[in-house]
Amino acid sequence: MNIYADNAATTKMSRAAIDAMLPCMEEVFGNPSTLYQTGQRAKEVIEQAREDIAEIINASPKEITFTSGGSEADNQAIRSGAMIGKKQGKMHIISTAFEHHAVLHTLKRLEEEGFDVTLLDVHENGIVTPEEVDAAIRDDTCLVTIMTANNEIGTIQPIREIGAVCRKRGVLFHTDAVQAVGHIHIDVEKDNIDMLSASAHKFHGPKGAGFLYAKKGIRLTNIIDGGAQERGKRAGTENVPAIAGMAAALKEAAANMDSNADKLTSMRNKLIEGLNEIPHSALNGDEQHRLPGNVNFCFEGIEGESILLLLDDKGIQASSGSACTSGSLDPSHVLLAIGRVHDVAHGSLRLTLGEDITEEQVDYIIKSVKETVEYLRSFSPVWKELCEGKRKFIL
Ligand SMILES: *Cc1c(COP(=O)(O)O)cnc(C)c1O
Repeated sequence: MNIYADNAATTKMSRAAIDAMLPCMEEVFGNPSTLYQTGQRAKEVIEQAREDIAEIINASPKEITFTSGGSEADNQAIRSGAMIGKKQGKMHIISTAFEHHAVLHTLKRLEEEGFDVTLLDVHENGIVTPEEVDAAIRDDTCLVTIMTANNEIGTIQPIREIGAVCRKRGVLFHTDAVQAVGHIHIDVEKDNIDMLSASAHKFHGPKGAGFLYAKKGIRLTNIIDGGAQERGKRAGTENVPAIAGMAAALKEAAANMDSNADKLTSMRNKLIEGLNEIPHSALNGDEQHRLPGNVNFCFEGIEGESILLLLDDKGIQASSGSACTSGSLDPSHVLLAIGRVHDVAHGSLRLTLGEDITEEQVDYIIKSVKETVEYLRSFSPVWKELCEGKRKFIL
């Protein structure tokens, strides 16, 4: 068996995305800023993509800026919110402790530039409440940035309610929706969103393409200076094939969103049920308010890295958390944020299912994880101490 269960790290490109990209490499290769026909055709491809993407999130095309991906969109959104605030003498930003590093590291840099950042607690269930956002807003707050869905534990935040609080208090609201766009419904109007980041490779589009939605009237700060592309807000010749592929992938994801989510939710629940049978294990994050394909578990007495290698031998590709931190020995900042202690956070496993997953594959994953956890525990000194009562079980 070969099962790719790391769709939160990246997804396989859809046929629709590839088919949309090929003509942009073979025929419509012109620079969209030129006036002759191949250039103008490339320009049309970009503007059609902008319209298609805008429609899916209920925005207007002028509110969409193409970027190199989710990280760039996060950087630009947050820096823009900060600069708008600074002009008004407001230098306080609110976020959460379990954001993606593209958000957390941007905030760290802004702190060095004199901004004051409050990181809200996300509780054991991995969810922040609108009341807590309301309570944290100060007279000098310029921006709230809270992710729509977490990339490690998949928990979905009450974005619409948080957005409503921000509107009421007159504070800009940005959401990193990289894990959500193409997977769950997002309507920037109804959800009270001022800025939103998305990335193509998380919804079966190409890597290196993303977009930033910024509500009309919000002045974006450039991250990349140069030519006048993207209405002067993002210089550099547009990645025409990738933009076309991104739009095609998102159109397909949006058209099939409900059926995909139904299927994934039932597969996810089956997987959670199966893994729950492993003694001294626990699901990370709220069981209901989570992405359709996300399963994240902690197993006491084992190390995440070793489980990944053994599962890989069995043909299962999974993750111990975010792809960006695997390879480092520090436990995930997300698991620490929801209150998992270091020892337990080390034994984590993230399985993010794709739409083509089958019931047989889920059964195989359950069987393989059970065997692997049992095998690793059989020679784990920590597990031995737990069983002998020299250490206390936490899970
Ligand atoms: C993947 C991811 C990003 C980064 O997106 P890139 O396109 O890889 O730069 C940002 N935020 C979240 C929540 C993500 O999952």
